[in-house]
Amino acid sequence: MFSYRHAFHAGNHADVLKHTVLIATLEHMLEKDAALTVVDTHAGAGLYRLDGDYAGTSGEAAEGILRLLASKKAPAAPTAPTTSAAPAPAAKSASKKAAPEAEAPLADAIARYLEVIHDFNPNGGARVYPGSPFIVQHLLRDHDKLKLFELHPTDGRTLSANIAQLEAGRQISVLNEDGFGSATKFLPPPSRRALVLMDPSYEMKTDYGRVLDFAAEALKRFATGTYAVWYPIIPRPEAHDLPRRLKTMATKSGKSWLHATLTVKSSKITKDAASGETQRPGLPASGMFLINPPYTLKPLLAAALPQLAERLGQDRNATFSLESGG
Ligand code: SAM
Repeated sequence: MFSYRHAFHAGNHADVLKHTVLIATLEHMLEKDAALTVVDTHAGAGLYRLDGDYAGTSGEAAEGILRLLASKKAPAAPTAPTTSAAPAPAAKSASKKAAPEAEAPLADAIARYLEVIHDFNPNGGARVYPGSPFIVQHLLRDHDKLKLFELHPTDGRTLSANIAQLEAGRQISVLNEDGFGSATKFLPPPSRRALVLMDPSYEMKTDYGRVLDFAAEALKRFATGTYAVWYPIIPRPEAHDLPRRLKTMATKSGKSWLHATLTVKSSKITKDAASGETQRPGLPASGMFLINPPYTLKPLLAAALPQLAERLGQDRNATFSLESGG
């Protein structure tokens, strides 16, 4: 059941999308003084080493945060932002470099994401990669709360040890419990302000249905909370249906929603010409779906997503989409 370890995937293109959206959402919510509770239903280990064995073996960060950092030095061609529901035109190959004078300023949401990564790596680079618990804790104020759920016994222990070093006291709770099963107990929080991140591994296909059940229950208990779901875009009916069903749920509840996707490469399975071996592309794309998103998020992502597609795109299929409703 528990073969997924986020350490193999930390800092990949999906983390770049997820954490860029997370920071932009959180920073808007922190503009109000009233206390905020953040619930992370699938927290992971909290902090990762990109020069360690796990990340080194998968090499996924090389196509995510490390590529984004490198693209800051080698300017990418600007791409016109779109906020339409239709997929944007394919981004140009990231290997095609524009003349330096064509460099577009980095979109604010990406710049903030990279600043946060820099805070964990004051000497530059990204040897240390903060997962969602550390990103959130880094931004929270003293009177805010963070509730972290992690069911994997090893990652749960690592998360507890990492969090203990922060000496954050009662501000942060680490629960070695099923996030889908018990995180709604924190809703609504006393201040009636909360951001809930649902970021399962989708290792089991039942995770798709559990996200929907959890979101429905959470909305029933706390209709004005902000809910953010990450999901993989892979050729599987459940993955295809998830954003559609979340959209229906939000619309039926009269709630606003936002849906952002980032595709970095083709999802086609190919055959190596020489060896004849089947080559699977790895994760080609992912999405973030938010219910009750901050109104500031859409314009921030309209500027950021084309740059992410441009800078992280691996082939001519690289693209993004951004739509909202309610
Ligand atoms: N949110 C993290 C981040 O952005 O850094 C990454 C989380 S990772 C994609 C998903 C995590 O959920 C894994 O560490 C996995 O062990 C854990 N997990 C799986 N099922 C769970 C459940 N039912 N409740 C809580 N955690 C679970």
